[in-house]
Amino acid sequence: MPTTSKQKAEDFDKNDSLKEYRSHFYIPSGKTRSEQLYFTGNSLGLQPKSVHTYIQQELEDWENLGVEGHFHGKNPWFNYHQFFDKEANVVGAKNDEVVVMNNLTVNLHLLLVSFYRPSSKRYKIIMEAGAFPSDMYVIESQVKHHGYDYDDAVIELEPREGEHHLRTEDIVQAIEETGDELALLFFSGVQYYTGQYFDIQALTKAAHDVGAIAGFDCAHAAGNVKLELHDWGVDFAAWCTYKYMNSGPGGVSGVFVHEKHGNNPDTPRFAGWWGHKESERFQMKRGYIPEPGAAGWQLSNAPVISMAVHKASLDMFDEVGMDALVSKGKKLNHFLEEVVNDAQEKNPKLAFEIITPKDRGCQLSMLTNENGKSLFEYLTANDVIADWREPNVIRLAPVPFYNSFMDIWEFGELLKKF
Ligand SMILES: *Cc1c(COP(=O)(O)O)cnc(C)c1O
Repeated sequence: MPTTSKQKAEDFDKNDSLKEYRSHFYIPSGKTRSEQLYFTGNSLGLQPKSVHTYIQQELEDWENLGVEGHFHGKNPWFNYHQFFDKEANVVGAKNDEVVVMNNLTVNLHLLLVSFYRPSSKRYKIIMEAGAFPSDMYVIESQVKHHGYDYDDAVIELEPREGEHHLRTEDIVQAIEETGDELALLFFSGVQYYTGQYFDIQALTKAAHDVGAIAGFDCAHAAGNVKLELHDWGVDFAAWCTYKYMNSGPGGVSGVFVHEKHGNNPDTPRFAGWWGHKESERFQMKRGYIPEPGAAGWQLSNAPVISMAVHKASLDMFDEVGMDALVSKGKKLNHFLEEVVNDAQEKNPKLAFEIITPKDRGCQLSMLTNENGKSLFEYLTANDVIADWREPNVIRLAPVPFYNSFMDIWEFGELLKKF
C-alpha cells in the first residue's frame, strides 16, 4: 500500500528534530483555522517568543541606569555590536568579517563606496536583470553618482529565451567577455523572485579572474542556505535580518567584508565615530582610525532595541546551527514541490509552472496563468499566507524553524479544492 501524502507529512513531522521550535514562535491565528498556513518567512519571518525578554532587558537597563547603561548594563551598549559575533556562523565568515548595523539598502551604498571605485577603463557592473528594486536603484544611483550612463555601465543578464533562471556558465561567460572593463559583479545570493540560489563560489572566482570585485546581496540567502562567504573569497555582502532571520519589521542588517579588505585600514570608506578604533572612540580626536574588520564600517551607535530583537533570533540560530536548518529546509521544499505537482495532476483548474530551479533555498515560485490572481485570493481567504509578486508569481517559503510538513499537506488539500 503506498503511503498517502498525509501519512508522509505526519511521519516527517514526528521525526523532525526541529519540531519543538514551532512552539518558540507566535503563529498568527487564522479566520478559518486556528493557525495560519504561514509561507512568507522570506518576506517577514515570524516573531520568536523570546523577543519580549530580550527587549525588556534593554528597557530595564535604560530605566534603571540611564546613560550608565552604555558601560554598566547587562549587555553594555558601548560594545553592543560585539554580542553578534555568532552572525558570522550563519554566513560562513570569521567573526571580525561581520558586523550588524543600519538597514540593508543603506549598507549596500556604504559598501559600494568602498567596492565600486570605477576607473576610466574599468567601470562596468554585471548584475542579474530583474533584481530586487532597491538593488536596482542602488546600482542606478551609484553609476550616476560616478558620472556614468546606466546603459553603458550596467550589464543586466537575462535568462536564455524560454528559460526562467540564469545558467552559471552564461554568467561566467559574460564576466569573461567584459574582462578588464568589469569593476564589479553584484548579484543576489538567492534571487527573490525565482528563488534561484546562485553559485556564489563560481561567480566570485570568475570575477576575480578578470580582476573585478564580487559582492552579493544575501537578503534571501542569510539564514536560508549554507553560505561560506569567507572560503569562497567573496569581497563583500550584506543582508537584512527580518526575512529568514526572524528579526522583526525594519530589523537591522548584517554586513560581511572579507578580511583581506577589512584588515586594511586603507580600504576607502565613509566613516563615523562608531567604527573608530574602540579604545580611542571617546577621545573625540581628529583623524579616523578604523577598527579592524567589518566593525570599521560602522557609522552610528548601535540601535539597541532593534538589535535586541535580532539577538533573540540569533541565539536560536546559534543553538540549532545552519546545517540542521538547511537539511530540514530542503525536505520541506521537496515535499512542497511534490504536493503542488500532485494537486496539479488532480485539479485541471491549476495551471502553473514552478520556476524555481533545483539550486534553491526554502522557496517555490509558481508562475500562474490568467486565473492566478483568483487562486491567490482563494488561498488568502483560506488563511494561506503566501505572496503575490507582479506580474503573476505566487511565492511560497516554508521555513524550517516553524513550518511543519502538515502545513504543506493542508496547503495541497486546499489547492485540490480550488
Ligand atoms: C528585502 C530586500 C531588500 C530590502 O531592503 P531594506 O533596505 O531592508 O528595506 C533589499 N534587497 C533585497 C535583495 C531584498 O530581498
